Amino acid sequence: MSNILVTGATGGLGKAVVDNLLKTISPDSISVLVRDPAKAADLQAQGVAVKQGDYNDYASLVAAFQGVDKLFLVSSNDIPNRVPQHTNAVNAAKEAGVKHVVYTSFQRKTEDGSSAAWSIAEAHLATEKLLKESGLTYTILKNALYLDVLPLFMGPVLDTHTLYLPAEGGKVPYASRADMGAAGAAVLTGTGHENQSYDISNDTSYSFSDIAKILSDLSGTSIQYVSPTAEDFGTALAAAGVPAGAIELTASFCVAIAHGEFDFPATDLEKLLGRKPESAEQFLKATYQL
Ligand code: NAP
Repeated sequence: MSNILVTGATGGLGKAVVDNLLKTISPDSISVLVRDPAKAADLQAQGVAVKQGDYNDYASLVAAFQGVDKLFLVSSNDIPNRVPQHTNAVNAAKEAGVKHVVYTSFQRKTEDGSSAAWSIAEAHLATEKLLKESGLTYTILKNALYLDVLPLFMGPVLDTHTLYLPAEGGKVPYASRADMGAAGAAVLTGTGHENQSYDISNDTSYSFSDIAKILSDLSGTSIQYVSPTAEDFGTALAAAGVPAGAIELTASFCVAIAHGEFDFPATDLEKLLGRKPESAEQFLKATYQL
């Protein structure tokens, strides 16, 4: 069995990958890279090797990646600093002799800087390019937007009965982070994934009108979708005291959604899971306990 290292294991996706690996392979062949080992005490207790490291610290990565065959590289959540961080990770993988890197990228329509979500896109595109030029074997997981981000986008929708987001009729094949974790583990333990790119998404795309209809049906109340301009959205949320950074990030995602930037339904996730991914209906029902 290969030695597998998962980064970001104190976060939602990395943890889901490790939890799924532990269902099928021995903890002896699993290690994780974390910034704060105390946050991975539960994994250590299950026999997973916990290595301390930071994407900003190249030497820590080279040390942690020694003896690793397959690296599951979770993209950093430190958006402004991701390009140098991911560059460190890919170069360290090469220096340490890692054979195969699985990278969590994203779905996109444009690659020319025109995306409203360019601040998110830039590092993913740079990392994919670096990986492909590195000579390392790679698998690119083009993750859809998480179903898990919907509650963050929507706010207290069951109280307000309104979904107020500048996404027009744009659609997204959202998938759950839990399913993406299971798919990541399947790639790490399966065969035939060398130098492949997969769309890790649902096979159905949902607009916010669709989401409002699902929530209306589940809750038995009428929930409306209103799509303001990005400017009106910003003004309304600022007046409600929402921090500027959160408004900007949400607005940029929604405008990108309006432009169809993330609308790539596919069956790759279903094939990796060997079952249908969690649907928006199932996710919203469980999340809001409807
Ligand atoms: P998350 O819960 O925020 O986890 C991010 C992980 O990255 C954490 O374990 C964090 O470690 C680690 N990390 C951050 N900076 C690091 C550094 N300098 N060196 C080493 N590790 C570092 O995010 P997630 O939900 O698991 O998602 C994984 C990634 O997907 C995110 O980081 C982001 O790039 C992207 N994402 C995608 C979507 C989507 O809808 N597709 C949504 C959100 C995020 P600490 O615990 O030490 O902070």
